[in-house]
Amino acid sequence: MRTVLYPGSFDPVTLGHMDIIGRAATAFDRVIVGVLYNPDKPSGMLTTAQRVECLREATAGLENVRVAAFSGLLVDAVRACGADAVVRGLRTEGDCDVEMQMARLNRQMGGVETVFLAASPACMHISASMVRQIATMNGSLRGLVPPSLEARLETLLRRTK
Ligand code: ADP
Repeated sequence: MRTVLYPGSFDPVTLGHMDIIGRAATAFDRVIVGVLYNPDKPSGMLTTAQRVECLREATAGLENVRVAAFSGLLVDAVRACGADAVVRGLRTEGDCDVEMQMARLNRQMGGVETVFLAASPACMHISASMVRQIATMNGSLRGLVPPSLEARLETLLRRTK
């Protein structure tokens, strides 16, 4: 039984994340989507609970996917959830530089392997930060986030002042 942990901030979940989750769910027996947070330094726009709730709704149709929140080191989260490896998505060369360094550190610190999935051409331009920016300026999130979450995320992320 091969279990992988797909960690991220998911603030909010995007169609780019969903592409990686769906493909990982096909390639591995179990996928745990891990919302990583720092309890001492909350950051971003959505709360951890909102991120988890959105991910749970978006992945409800994927039987071998579950969503959980983790704080602390990634190597500890991998151990805590019994995962065999970490999955990450790669969009650009910029992603590669950062991701390679993280993968090597996680391997050195905890013997944790990282599996990379290349972003699909259809969603490699999507990032959670762009989605947040568009929503705060009252833009439409159609084609950027899971359809069932479009309206809710447009409201949650809209600038109120
Ligand atoms: P973002 O980089 O969008 O803020 P996260 O920090 O939550 O999102 O990223 C979690 C993981 O998802 C990372 O491995 C990141 O490279 C990957 N990822 C994010 N957006 C995409 C996308 N559009 N296509 C493929 N992978 C992505």
